Amino acid sequence: MKLLFTLLLITTSFGAVAQQTYLHCGLLIDGESDKPSKNMTIILEGKTIKKVQKGFVVGNDADTVIDLKAYTVMPGLMDTHVHLEKEFDKNSYMDRFTLNEADIAFRSAEYAKRTVMAGFTTVRDLGGTGVNISLMKAIDKGLVVGPRIYTAGKSIATTGGHADPSNGMKQAFMGDPGPDKGVINGIAEARKAVRQRYKNGANTIKITATGGVLSVAKDSKGAQFMMDELEAIVATAKDYGFVTAAHAHGAEGMKRAVLAGISSIEHGTEMTEEIMDLMIERGTYLVPTITAGKEVTEKAHVHGYYPEVVVPKAKAIGPQIQGTFGRAYKRGVKIAFGTDAGVFPHGQNWKEFGYMVEAGMPPMEAIKSATMEAAKLLRVENELGSIEEGKLADIIAVEGNPLEDMSVMENVFFVMKEGEVLK
Ligand SMILES: [Zn+2]
Repeated sequence: MKLLFTLLLITTSFGAVAQQTYLHCGLLIDGESDKPSKNMTIILEGKTIKKVQKGFVVGNDADTVIDLKAYTVMPGLMDTHVHLEKEFDKNSYMDRFTLNEADIAFRSAEYAKRTVMAGFTTVRDLGGTGVNISLMKAIDKGLVVGPRIYTAGKSIATTGGHADPSNGMKQAFMGDPGPDKGVINGIAEARKAVRQRYKNGANTIKITATGGVLSVAKDSKGAQFMMDELEAIVATAKDYGFVTAAHAHGAEGMKRAVLAGISSIEHGTEMTEEIMDLMIERGTYLVPTITAGKEVTEKAHVHGYYPEVVVPKAKAIGPQIQGTFGRAYKRGVKIAFGTDAGVFPHGQNWKEFGYMVEAGMPPMEAIKSATMEAAKLLRVENELGSIEEGKLADIIAVEGNPLEDMSVMENVFFVMKEGEVLK
């Protein structure tokens, strides 16, 4: 072993050339520039991007060339709002009674694979049972194929609020879930819930600042946290360096979350101009999830698909999300790509691009929202989000030009994550 190590050192010090990979790109969207570049070569060494050069360059015989001359190449996409543990269907409300953690784990492995094969090499999982933490670890270890995950574990709610796991049960089953299960009341419990998530291995925090559509509860948009609870959560999360996300439909709960210093507002349905301006001032991101809005609107019209209490909420909230996104974008609110995949089938995350463009966002900005802007929200812009020297080699390619037709994002031809070709 010692000898081998010495030999390795000698080889390296004599300058034996490390093997490189040359990616020949017909069109390159690098995630940083405003315009694409034609005929470019990305040179990789191991996990990282070593150089980006004009023209089609080749190295020596030991190097690998990947021919993507007929494709548009861009950074691995990022979806900052997914739920990898589940995929909604009309029976989903029974899952909490019928599924073991192992059942959830096997399903989530399949959803993770579908997600990365669709070109999303990084996701933020904003709430499940905690299996999402194990999934993140298994993917990091290379045991499961999937995207790099930042996960909230179980999201944090207040009693009876959106994401209280015992909503809708008979009282004998309800019990009194506390901070461990993500239900808090008051400052001390708020702090405890964040610290428990840190201890469990989560690395981001999600709260449900207002009511929500799919929970078995009446309220869809009322504020559900007091200001002091929100401040306690944000301050505690800050101690661990965690990014924070707030699910919010109604204005009051949304405004409180922004004032408390939350990193991103999810959905943002009834966002007022006052809130947009506060977000611009504070650099708060909006994560739109238009695809989920479209999905719940459609499914609310299928008789029996959602429980009765959910239907009117879905019909009222779903159709508003795209319009709010368009207004917020035009006013100058920062946008990070996020879909709420799991509310609709995993792997269809690409649909969001079309909806964003339809609402008035130029295609290049829509792509940047899923690359550089998403990386900034997750605070990983030094390693990810663009195709630049020194960054991790998360690279995808699609057939056709998304700047001319966003629907090509459905057909991801090539996926590389940290220098490894997955597709
Ligand atoms: Zn969600």
